[in-house]
Amino acid sequence: MKHKTNIRRIGVLTSGGDAPGMNAAIRAVVRTAIYEGVEVVGVMRGFSGLLNRQFISMQSHSVSKIISQGGTMLKSSRCPEFREREIRERAVESLREACIDGLVVIGGDGSFRAANLLCNEFGLPVVGIPGTIDNDICGTDTTIGFDTAINTAVSAVDKIRDTADSHNIIFFVEVMGRDSGFIALNTAIATGAEAALIPEVHTDIEKLCSYMERDRRKNKTSGIIIVAEGEDGGGAISVASKVKEILPDYEIRVTTLGHIQRGGSPSCNDRVLASLLGYEAVNALLKGLSGIMVGQVKNEIRFTPFEEACANHNLINKKWHEISRILSL
Ligand code: ADP
Repeated sequence: MKHKTNIRRIGVLTSGGDAPGMNAAIRAVVRTAIYEGVEVVGVMRGFSGLLNRQFISMQSHSVSKIISQGGTMLKSSRCPEFREREIRERAVESLREACIDGLVVIGGDGSFRAANLLCNEFGLPVVGIPGTIDNDICGTDTTIGFDTAINTAVSAVDKIRDTADSHNIIFFVEVMGRDSGFIALNTAIATGAEAALIPEVHTDIEKLCSYMERDRRKNKTSGIIIVAEGEDGGGAISVASKVKEILPDYEIRVTTLGHIQRGGSPSCNDRVLASLLGYEAVNALLKGLSGIMVGQVKNEIRFTPFEEACANHNLINKKWHEISRILSL
């Protein structure tokens, strides 16, 4: 027998927030499975598609030319009903009826919580691939989508900097990151921003104003403050208005980058990561592994149990926060 398991047909779905590179991961899953002689079924709209039996047969040509496309060809969704056991049981029944023996779930930690329940409650073989721009999943150095998102944010901030310089404005630029400052911190360092406000560090408005005044004394006439949406000052609009109260003569503007950070053609790094993880995920399933996420740590493939990947978040290096400030002096 070629494989260690009896898996003959697998399903693949994308769930939660979409991330650039998800398509590259789908492609890798489909092509690897076909290479291994295993059939692949695409499940549309994440866990919702399991309930509605929205299955499509995937061939090699089904994933042609998607490697360069953002979003996800299988579409994604939030499926709150999946928190109920009976609903999950229905999902597993529909998989069994369609003779799907194992599942690859591409998504974030919420999706992995659901995947873990499918393994633990019903013994369904499931392997996860980390796809989220937030980069906050433990067990991989980076998640699929993060590199593209920071590159998008950096090119947007570079453009904003032109207006800031031309008109002597301080821009507060809000980037994504409800619980983690990865996007904000990387964007701040790469754009030479004057400050980065992140969820991991308390936002001290007085201190921020003192930095701004010091910058002005040094004849800096404009500035960029990168604000992660989840920092504790209430987001860019709130922080900017508090600063304006203290420094009323400063010209201040707010820009929220929003969903542009999630879209667009994936970067080379995201395409490569997604391709490698997609390949490894299928091989892990065929070797009989389950209940794990496939990640990459220091250029090596690493399998992390879903419990661990969900329980612990990847942490930013707080020293980077200090360095970003030092380099902008
Ligand atoms: P992400 O995977 O990007 O973190 P979400 O947190 O929205 O996104 O999770 C995606 C989906 O996973 C949810 O819509 C739901 O269907 C399922 N899910 C999330 N958390 C749980 C949970 N604790 N139990 C069961 N299903 C869950």
